[in-house]
Amino acid sequence: MSTSAKLYEGKAKIVYGTDNEQQYLTYFKDDATAFNAEKKGTIVGKGEINCTISSALLELLATKNIPTHFIEQKSPREMLVKAVKIIPLEVVVRNIAAGSLCRQTGLKEGQKLPFSLVELYLKDDNLGDPLLTSDRLTILNIIPSEQSQILKDYALQINQYLQEFFSLCEIILVDFKLEFGFTQEGEIILADEISPDTCRLWDSQEQDQNKKVLDKDRFRRDLGKIESAYQQVQQRVLTQIEKLKNS
Ligand code: UDP
Repeated sequence: MSTSAKLYEGKAKIVYGTDNEQQYLTYFKDDATAFNAEKKGTIVGKGEINCTISSALLELLATKNIPTHFIEQKSPREMLVKAVKIIPLEVVVRNIAAGSLCRQTGLKEGQKLPFSLVELYLKDDNLGDPLLTSDRLTILNIIPSEQSQILKDYALQINQYLQEFFSLCEIILVDFKLEFGFTQEGEIILADEISPDTCRLWDSQEQDQNKKVLDKDRFRRDLGKIESAYQQVQQRVLTQIEKLKNS
């Protein structure tokens, strides 16, 4: 397989076309950004870790009948995926209050939510990825409401599988962001990545509120030891996947 043109370069990944028009190659970078790219940096080794964790988790979800774009991890930083047209929505699922939910509502960080909250944000950096109401979504006419319901249903199923899986890794899945896309056949499938860049992950065995953070909040909040936190997640995820394969 040979890669062709660079189709898109985002904050954390580059997407290349391949000689098969139904497949893209995504390259995971070490670049890190936060607060809508106001804060920039590098997390050494992040690309390899996020590609590896995402590959493992997408493969796991595929075994649970969640359709995903994952085909194969081609190299430590490269994932071969099904070509999709990304739906410009960020689907966020929250189990515990953190981040923008706390900033916008005054809920206390760490408060368990009475139910898993699914929210849709408009994927538009220039607008700062605003939270959408269902009426705003209708007016924007990005996808019909039946399809936004499909995204929410997938998101809740994925949340259930990932919560169970991460708890086996002694990690609490606080919240996470998903992106979906349309295949050339018009099927909605899970795309993008699932990694410590896109999830809040807390060490369930650690009581100290700063030490327990194993995700990009270490970068956002200058907590230090970012690389080792990401490595910790990778190691626990891969160990648990191996255990599941052998059981
Ligand atoms: N998230 C993401 N990309 C974004 C916005 C959010 O991956 O552009 C993830 C983030 O890492 C967290 C969840 O979605 O796991 C919820 O993020 P939140 O809305 O709390 O935003 P933040 O506090 O990061 O601004």
